[in-house]
Amino acid sequence: MCKTVKFGGSSLADAAQFQKVKDIILADDARRFVVVSAPGKRYKGDDKITDLLYECQSLAQSGAPFDHVFGRIERRFLQIRDRLGLSVDLEAKLSDIRHILENGASPDYAASRGEYLSALLMADYLGFPFVDASELICFHDDGTYDDETTQSRTRALKKLDRAVIPGFYGKRRDGSVRTFSRGGSDITGAIVARATESTLYENWTDVDGFLMADPHIVPDARVIDTVTYSELRELSYMGATVLHEDSIFPVRKARIPINVRNTNRPSAKGTMIVPDGQSTPDKSCPLTGIAGSRGFTVITLQKDNLHAEPAYAYRVLGILARHNVIVECMPSGIDTISIVASDAALRGKMDAIYHDILTDCSPDTVEIASCIALVASVGIGMVRTKGVAANLFSALADAGINVRIIDQGTSEMNLIVGVEQRDFEKAIKAIYRRFV
Ligand code: ASP
Repeated sequence: MCKTVKFGGSSLADAAQFQKVKDIILADDARRFVVVSAPGKRYKGDDKITDLLYECQSLAQSGAPFDHVFGRIERRFLQIRDRLGLSVDLEAKLSDIRHILENGASPDYAASRGEYLSALLMADYLGFPFVDASELICFHDDGTYDDETTQSRTRALKKLDRAVIPGFYGKRRDGSVRTFSRGGSDITGAIVARATESTLYENWTDVDGFLMADPHIVPDARVIDTVTYSELRELSYMGATVLHEDSIFPVRKARIPINVRNTNRPSAKGTMIVPDGQSTPDKSCPLTGIAGSRGFTVITLQKDNLHAEPAYAYRVLGILARHNVIVECMPSGIDTISIVASDAALRGKMDAIYHDILTDCSPDTVEIASCIALVASVGIGMVRTKGVAANLFSALADAGINVRIIDQGTSEMNLIVGVEQRDFEKAIKAIYRRFV
């Protein structure tokens, strides 16, 4: 039995957090591969080590002194080491890093040192071998992730009994350090879980799990017990955030479940993210989660007998494709077609798109409505369950909300409604209260 465990920055913020992490790891012999982030915030308003490292690099690059910032990084790491009574020669490592920063280190190199030092300390504390991520995680010269080479390098992990590995970074073929995007230690954890054929990937953070709705909107939102990869994907796409989006793919392919757990409350079961088909829908609540985002625009084309014109939708979509705009959904009627896209995707392109629509599609009218929010209700429990849509729409009607767009994926697992932006939070609350 083998588990890969990844601990986020808040789980490693100081010596007391390191201690909790050690207790968690030693409580289960199967927790053999440990991936760590850099120390995060200890309290609201505190610094994340990664942010301080980026700051040092940018000061150094502009020729400004960075000692005052680097000193804060040094103190954080030395305090953890000394409070835990460890013997890692951090002074030498820190002085090397300072020297490299002075001599034109890249932002990626600078940021990666947080995870590097954090893993050195954790390896010493646990008595596990340290394996540098730069020996395992590979990037192409253009900076994109190289999964093939990574898979062949990480095979070596299978021969080890235990290891601590820094998250977030790897190296290019030329030897330079490259990081994933922010929060990328989640991806390292998933890659290690796949390479070690772990039976479970535990992702330890500072929340009890994945919540059914944004707690800023539904303060008492329930923790989701089990969610499938597909459901999670739908929820993340619509704005829910817990794990780095890309962290799913290595374990999803290998059908390894992820368990999101709380380092500060290890007794909580957390959320299990399981391969499709391995979750039994909850009969009493067909919804697994609700997520949504503001900031969408609907472009509606109206033309008499539009449905009889061959390839009309093809022409409309061609325009959006030419302008590199991703279409979220495309509700249509006999004489109308609507395109829903995010304001961000349309920014600076609207006039040109409008012009192309008039010339290529000759509509009778074009209407553009902005300030639309999309709310997705997701759940495998909705599939072939009667009355879910009726219940959802009556909840919205009872809350006095007008539904502007309806879109149900053919998988029946996701029902998206578009509402006026001002009704966004009201809609999520209304749906949550009706189903939970
Ligand atoms: N330390 C990095 C960050 O703050 C990566 C991570 O924690 O996953 O984004």
